[in-house]
Amino acid sequence: MRHYESVKRILVTGGAGFLGSHLCDRLIAQGHEVVCADNLFTGSKRNITHLLGHPRFEFLRHDVTHPLYIEVDEIWNLACPASPVHYQHDPVQTTKTSVHGAINMLGLAKRLKARIFQASTSEVYGDPKIHPQPESYVGNVNPIGPRSCYDEGKRCAETLFFDYHRQHQLEIKVVRIFNTYGPRMHPNDGRVVSNFIVQALRGEDITIYGEGQQTRSFCYVDDLLNGFLAFMASPADFVGPVNIGNPGEFTIRELAEKVIAQTGSKSRLSFKPLPADDPTQRQPDIRLARERLGWEPTVALDEGLTRTIRYFDDLLSGRLG
Ligand code: NAD
Ligand code: UDP
Repeated sequence: MRHYESVKRILVTGGAGFLGSHLCDRLIAQGHEVVCADNLFTGSKRNITHLLGHPRFEFLRHDVTHPLYIEVDEIWNLACPASPVHYQHDPVQTTKTSVHGAINMLGLAKRLKARIFQASTSEVYGDPKIHPQPESYVGNVNPIGPRSCYDEGKRCAETLFFDYHRQHQLEIKVVRIFNTYGPRMHPNDGRVVSNFIVQALRGEDITIYGEGQQTRSFCYVDDLLNGFLAFMASPADFVGPVNIGNPGEFTIRELAEKVIAQTGSKSRLSFKPLPADDPTQRQPDIRLARERLGWEPTVALDEGLTRTIRYFDDLLSGRLG
């Protein structure tokens, strides 16, 4: 039986992407109606094919840099390319997606008096001088480098969210996501976990940028989604920003070795130049999420890699159709 009081109509921008499609699944499973708005720049209909015939699911091909007129109870704003390769492909569009996209979605939320979630990023900390990074750290970001379209775009989006909250009493929820991986990353996504797994499964060289001594902390997608849902359901006075990520920190070289070991691949390591402004270290301080949401990640990197390798193995060998 459906409980109509608790069933919401929910907009997910970027819903055909890696994280957005998992979010759509979780919201549909909770009994909600979901409108997924996506321009399919980096997302794919493949990620939502299984939802397309669902009576509570609707797909809109829409670019968030344009206004959207729609009636919903809640908004999750995830639209934005997340891989450096893709967000640097058209940097002006990336900034527009973050900034104009935020303005459009916040305007919509204001008219509807709807709670709105923003997918921000650990990139707001830039190349951090404080380690691990707590939410109070204001960051070390280059405003004019190749990553700035993304980093500064996301920082400006946070500014807009907090100003709409202060000025218009909007109910906002701002999450800072640290490197997350899992099934439904695009094989050509360009981010490190999917690159290494696809290269290993194809027997190609594993491309390590720099010497591979830079670190990242990798969160499995299911853990991240648990954090998202707990945060969105938390009291209105807890607006964030809150870090969601897995504090387990690894060098990129360690990641490559784990992928080779798990796939049994004969791939060799190939060292390429380190891209400009590539952060040297990154690890979330998740004390706030632990205290306020009772949340913490449960899937260790080895286990998450096993699940993700299985997905890419099925995908590359055509078993996913
Ligand atoms: P993704 O590239 O798989 O998904 C992004 C989605 O947004 C895609 O479906 C894409 O087509 C869509 N999109 C891009 N520009 C758009 C536009 N102008 N209008 C409408 N749709 C648009 O990436 P993801 O990993 O799923 O990331 C989702 C969100 O989470 C992004 O906002 C990203 O910045 C943020 N984030 C992700 C991570 C991570 O590790 N996965 C880390 C930090 C932040
Ligand atoms: N990286 C790498 N090889 C690749 C892709 C990425 O060595 O094929 C490195 C990249 O230089 C960075 C780290 O892996 O230091 C994480 O890169 P990613 O693009 O996944 O995300 P970022 O955290 O930099 O946004």
